Amino acid sequence: MVFEITSKDAMGRIGRLSTSHGRVETPALMPVINPNIDFIPPSEMRKFGAEMLITNSYIIYRTKKLREGALKRGLHSLLGVDMPVMTDSGSFQLMVYGEVEISNREIVSFQNEIGSDVVTPLDIPTPPDATHETALTDLEETMRREREAEEIHLSHSKGNLLSIPIQGSTHLDLRKKSAEEANRIKGDVFAIGAVVPLLDAYRFSDVARIVLAVKSVISPAKPVHLFGAGHPMIFALFAAMGIDLFDSAAYALFAKDNRYLTPNGTLKLDEIQYFPCSCPVCLNYTPEEMRRLSKNERAYLIAEHNLYASFEEMRRVKQAIKNNELFELVEMRIRSHPYLIQAWREIKNHHQLLEKHDPSAKKIFFYLGKESLYRPAIKRHQDRVLNVEVERDEIIISSDPGVKADFYLKPAFGVVPADLMESYPAGHAEMYDEIEEEAYLMAVEGLRRFMERHGNRRIRLVVDEKWRRFIDEIQN
Ligand SMILES: [Zn+2]
Repeated sequence: MVFEITSKDAMGRIGRLSTSHGRVETPALMPVINPNIDFIPPSEMRKFGAEMLITNSYIIYRTKKLREGALKRGLHSLLGVDMPVMTDSGSFQLMVYGEVEISNREIVSFQNEIGSDVVTPLDIPTPPDATHETALTDLEETMRREREAEEIHLSHSKGNLLSIPIQGSTHLDLRKKSAEEANRIKGDVFAIGAVVPLLDAYRFSDVARIVLAVKSVISPAKPVHLFGAGHPMIFALFAAMGIDLFDSAAYALFAKDNRYLTPNGTLKLDEIQYFPCSCPVCLNYTPEEMRRLSKNERAYLIAEHNLYASFEEMRRVKQAIKNNELFELVEMRIRSHPYLIQAWREIKNHHQLLEKHDPSAKKIFFYLGKESLYRPAIKRHQDRVLNVEVERDEIIISSDPGVKADFYLKPAFGVVPADLMESYPAGHAEMYDEIEEEAYLMAVEGLRRFMERHGNRRIRLVVDEKWRRFIDEIQN
């Protein structure tokens, strides 16, 4: 099997992607290698935590020396690595320059010949906010090229995998159409493309809408790559929406501009007095010392830090998936930027999707703010409570755990059977006092459904002032 999922949390997963150069654990971050630029050598990437790289086959093809080297010795030997390497096709150049001097057939065959582990067709990256007509015309051409790539791939592949780009600009119906087509093509990886302009503009909600639209139709058995997503502050959020592959050109691009990546955002070297990091670079230099270095030395060191910080965050995301604490991690991370909070709130409209993927057995529920109300655990609890058998004619429901009752009220969860007061999720939910009204409203909605279900019984409510206010509303 090419892709195997081993752990799940929220819509995120830990998986194993098998390539002809070994297995990669996902979610994975692929550093982008520009073979024309002498920077951190590809062979150094393992020390930061990289298991897979991505490079641009179009740049290799266009540079005579690189092309000949790659055709003669293979891509891996050209880069000096034995780890899996994915190749992009030049569609980024297409977006920047408007044209490339190669056909889809040529670039796909070239990637096969040089032994790329993941081959990418020359898709058309329609920019955000394009008209529906333009986006559709581009998408039809992209889909034609994908089918052509599939055909070349089926006859020429030497064990390499095929990536199927998903386009459609900011039009969700087209993104879905593209994803449906991707399901039909025998690709191994799906790559959501042309989101970099949105990420650069912090339009995270638009990216979230695209990702969720794609995830709502794409086969869950395949890994999904969010092309160009390389800032550690968005790893938790998009991993929780089901992204398995990330790539970072950011580590180098930001470094050349004296920008320092952290999981909570970007810092400017000029404004740092203390490094908030303990990677080898940050332990060896003070910000002041780093500012005194030459431009090239400084860029190299910041890029190293950027890689250490990015892989550290990716490991934290994976640990959160293993511990079923990904919601908690996301809810912490999004607090570093208002647009991240806004982006995460998009999941509110995708309850069924979350419900389908999020595991139901976990250990802990930390309520960290209103966004915690979107977790499936709450609605699942409320649905399950409706099926609890009640023998007695009179049911006592209390908001005070000190009072003897059949059921208790808990913010967000609503009605909790007495014998489940120590069980996950309601019994394991840690919440603060003076919790948001939304948590009461959600609980009261659960109570309303419970009372409706037991309409033939007498229900006695023993509730305090705070609860009474909300309950009065449903009783009127
Ligand atoms: Zn550091």
